[in-house]
Amino acid sequence: MTSDVKTENCSNCGTVIGALETPFVWQGNIVCKACHSRLGNYVPDLKPATSSNVQLIEKTAKRWKGLIAIGYGIVAVGFILIVAAILLIARDVGGGVPQILFVVGLVGFIGGTGVAIFGRVRAWWEHG
Ligand SMILES: [Zn+2]
Repeated sequence: MTSDVKTENCSNCGTVIGALETPFVWQGNIVCKACHSRLGNYVPDLKPATSSNVQLIEKTAKRWKGLIAIGYGIVAVGFILIVAAILLIARDVGGGVPQILFVVGLVGFIGGTGVAIFGRVRAWWEHG
C-alpha cells in the first residue's frame, strides 16, 4: 500500500501543510489553518477593475481629450484673429473692426488655453 503523502504549502505564509492537516481554501488559495483564521477578518476588494470600469475610464478620458482639442482649436482661432487684427491695425484699415477682432482673439486665446488646461487637469484627475 503506497500512500502518496501530498503536502501543500500555504499560499500566504509558505508553511508546509502536512498530510494530516486540513488545508483551508481562502479566496481560491490553499492556506494553513492559522492563516485562514487570520485572513478570515480581512475582506479583500472582490471587484478589481472590470472591463466595463476600464471602458468607462477610457470614455471619460476621450471626453476630456475632446475638450482639450476644442480648447486648442479655440486657441488657434484666437491666435489667427490676433495676427489678422495686428496686420490690419498695422496697415491702418478696418476702422475699429481690427481692434474688436484683437480683443475677441485675445479672449479666445486665453479662454481656449483655460479650456485646454481644464481638460488636462480633469483627465489627469480621473486617471488618478
Ligand atoms: Zn499560512
